[in-house]
Amino acid sequence: MSRFCIGIDVGGTTVKLGVFEDDGQLLRKWEIPTRKEQQGVHILPDIALSVRHTLEEMKLDLTDVLGAGLGVPGPVATDGYVPRCVNLGWGEGYPARDLSLMLEGIPVKCANDANIAALGEMWQGGGKGYNDIVMITLGTGVGGGVVIDQKIIAGRHGLAGEIGHTHVRDDETEYCNCGSRGCLEQVASATGVVREAKMFLASSSKESILRDIEENSLTAKDVMDAAKAGDELAVEIVDCVCYYLGRSLAQLALTIDPEIFVIGGGVSKAGQYLIDNIQKYYEQYETLSENRPLVGLAKLGNDAGIYGAARMVLD
Ligand SMILES: [Zn+2]
Repeated sequence: MSRFCIGIDVGGTTVKLGVFEDDGQLLRKWEIPTRKEQQGVHILPDIALSVRHTLEEMKLDLTDVLGAGLGVPGPVATDGYVPRCVNLGWGEGYPARDLSLMLEGIPVKCANDANIAALGEMWQGGGKGYNDIVMITLGTGVGGGVVIDQKIIAGRHGLAGEIGHTHVRDDETEYCNCGSRGCLEQVASATGVVREAKMFLASSSKESILRDIEENSLTAKDVMDAAKAGDELAVEIVDCVCYYLGRSLAQLALTIDPEIFVIGGGVSKAGQYLIDNIQKYYEQYETLSENRPLVGLAKLGNDAGIYGAARMVLD
């Protein structure tokens, strides 16, 4: 009986891969570089070759494998159609079908990387034991993924879970990467936290340990650490970030009502301190019922994608 599944998470610089048992145990994980030259034509053949090689090393055969899941950094339609993937240089196509052909026809499923990360956290991470989760990743950008009844909800247009680009601030003057102004991502991503900090530092004369850090090397972690240490200005910055996050969670709770929100990404390394601050505003703006979705931390870090990709195979 085949009981292994393969998770593949294609990023702009590296492809992460993992071989799992169907109970969620990660047996082997590794990475290969993402070769984006020539419209990314090498990416799938490189993956296929690397998978074959590793299975051989593990003394496994493709017939021992239930299938593979493939996460890509861009929109993916429910039928696996990728309109284009700017980050990989790909034009339109069906990467899952192509990879399957390179791996002797084993089943391959493809989904957006933020969505598979959410599925991974549901399977073996911060959302383990729950069927309905919304994951929010506070990284370079703000990503999101919605999983209901253990299934990714990609939406009719692949827009579901694009929480980072919901509008939260009217008086924003700078543009977001998406072309809009006032997106959650502009405030709550790692880059957003730093930008917010610089604005607070510039508009206030309050003393702060953040002023001792050279402006160009200031990080979201510096801000979080300073706030945890009681630095007044840093506390104000974190409070502002958490206000927007808490308000967004309240709106999502009243739209999707999952069992739990799972917060991941670099900014979430601030841990329970961040959650507590988000919770304050979340509860303030979701007063309809005290029986509301929980808020917790993601647990799988950068491996969430390979977990979720592997989990797709099991449906
Ligand atoms: Zn945006």
